[in-house]
Amino acid sequence: MIWKSILDPIHRLLAPPVSNCLACGRMTNRSTQIHGICRDCYNGIPWIRHPRCRTCGRHMGCPDCTRAGGHERFFICNRSAVAYNPVMREWLGQYKYRGNERYSELLIMMLGQAYVGMKNEHRRADSQWTIDVITCVPVSTIRLQERGFNQAEVLGLGVAGLSQIPFRRLIIRERHTDKQSLKNRSDRIRDMMNTFEADPDIINSIRNIIESRHRSRVNSPLRFLVIDDIYTTGSTINSCARVLWVAGEVIGQPMEIYSLTWARS
Ligand SMILES: [Zn+2]
Ligand SMILES: [Zn+2]
Repeated sequence: MIWKSILDPIHRLLAPPVSNCLACGRMTNRSTQIHGICRDCYNGIPWIRHPRCRTCGRHMGCPDCTRAGGHERFFICNRSAVAYNPVMREWLGQYKYRGNERYSELLIMMLGQAYVGMKNEHRRADSQWTIDVITCVPVSTIRLQERGFNQAEVLGLGVAGLSQIPFRRLIIRERHTDKQSLKNRSDRIRDMMNTFEADPDIINSIRNIIESRHRSRVNSPLRFLVIDDIYTTGSTINSCARVLWVAGEVIGQPMEIYSLTWARS
């Protein structure tokens, strides 16, 4: 009996800390690569490690990017951390609509891993490949008031912190668009092309980024990474990329625009 009372606190110290899994609620000893979720939930994440479509990062055959007569594309490629499925929809809902803070950490960690994968993929072709600045898809003022935060900006700031890359707000969105989920593909594309504008300070921001780049990078194109929560048709990302591309044209700076989204639907 006396030994038990002496040993119990020691056992507690030696055992890994136990908490409830964020996603399924079961007890977990936090042994997965992502803090807060259990091994079963971690193993259930539908990571896209080998995209079938090199352009949009889709995990399956992709008619969108090969369709003839498609809209001009202003970004090089998109990569997404996961394929959107019912479980991922629930996770995104917890974060985006219910404001569950613990999910923001989870999604940021997942995006951080996806960024590392994206970097490794590009460095196989260009060992110097790196992103100079991270930005995000903006939300309208109305959405911001409804939700209290821009879900893409929180993710963008998180990835910027993890990857030690500067974050800048470069794009604004004033016109309120109707709920995307209720529209078909061509409606969405038409709506999106006029939704985004450059932040009034975009030229100064880009000049500052150029000036702060390491000397070894002055002859490389300026590389942007646009962050969003989900990639569906690509029209949102393309419209944002166009705003950046136009700014590059104005100051005569060669640019490459990439995007990283948490899920690919
Ligand atoms: Zn779990
Ligand atoms: Zn594609």
